[in-house]
Amino acid sequence: MNPKQKRKKKQQLIEDFGCYCWWCGKCLMPEKLTIEHLLPRSKGGSNSKENLRLSCFKCNNSRGNSLYPPGWEQGKCF
Ligand SMILES: [Zn+2]
Repeated sequence: MNPKQKRKKKQQLIEDFGCYCWWCGKCLMPEKLTIEHLLPRSKGGSNSKENLRLSCFKCNNSRGNSLYPPGWEQGKCF
């Protein structure tokens, strides 16, 4: 995705899901939200809306390329 497409995708996701991080539920300014792939790109995840969610930098970073939610390995989530 180029930056323009990314911005458009993000806008669509905000319309669908609101300003919330998919993982920790925090409401953030659009510029603080990142596009999160439920199935990571490196694992063959697509750029379709079904695979995209919004997440804050912290959750996105801590999850990395894992198939699981951030904090899963540490047993913190769920
Ligand atoms: Zn978060």
